[in-house]
Amino acid sequence: MKADPFHQARLLDLQRLDTRLDQIAHARTRLPVLADLEKATAAHASAHDDLVRAQTALGDLEREQARADADVQLVRDRAERDRSRLAAGTGTAKDLQAIQHELDSLARRQSELEDVEIEVMERVEAARDRADRLRAVADELAAKVSELTQVRDAEIARLDAELEEVAAPREELRAGIDDGLVGLYESLRSRTGGVVAAPLEGRSCGGCRIQLNPVDLRRIADAPSNEVLRCDECDRILVRVPEGA
Ligand SMILES: [Zn+2]
Repeated sequence: MKADPFHQARLLDLQRLDTRLDQIAHARTRLPVLADLEKATAAHASAHDDLVRAQTALGDLEREQARADADVQLVRDRAERDRSRLAAGTGTAKDLQAIQHELDSLARRQSELEDVEIEVMERVEAARDRADRLRAVADELAAKVSELTQVRDAEIARLDAELEEVAAPREELRAGIDDGLVGLYESLRSRTGGVVAAPLEGRSCGGCRIQLNPVDLRRIADAPSNEVLRCDECDRILVRVPEGA
């Protein structure tokens, strides 16, 4: 392939911009904040699951407490009715004795049920404390996720702005390079990516850094300046940069 040496030199500028675009695209996927955000998101999801479980347990205990309260109330109501009947003094002595007897056993029953009620109440309080603690943890992690999301969005926006800054001059530069040469460059880029056009630096290929053998160097020295050269080692387009260019 033949191409104006000036166009060949411009190809190196194009490569520099494309390398910069590659670096920005790479940086976009490797932002340290992405790993932090992923970690915080997972931690928040797990804290949220813990919270849901704790809230479910609390709900169950609150229902148990309501039942215990109702049991105690039932006994109290019954005793209240018995006391009214005693106070009214109606009925035979035997009836009144039976009522007094029931009041005694209701008092024992009430005491037992109140013990249960207190025990359930303590478990409800412990479960409520646990749910409160877990809610605080989940809230804190949610705030962290939101903060890291903002950091990520800002960094992505900064990199996107950089991409745009490079993309416009890149298009302009590309439009000014010989079609055949830029076509070769782009087909190599699509095949291997990365650096596909490198300068000849002294006796070495600027791409693979391998020193060319004397035969190749002789061939290069004899090649007309518009000849598009390729590195035998890495197949990159090898651009001769004129002295002082
Ligand atoms: Zn090479």
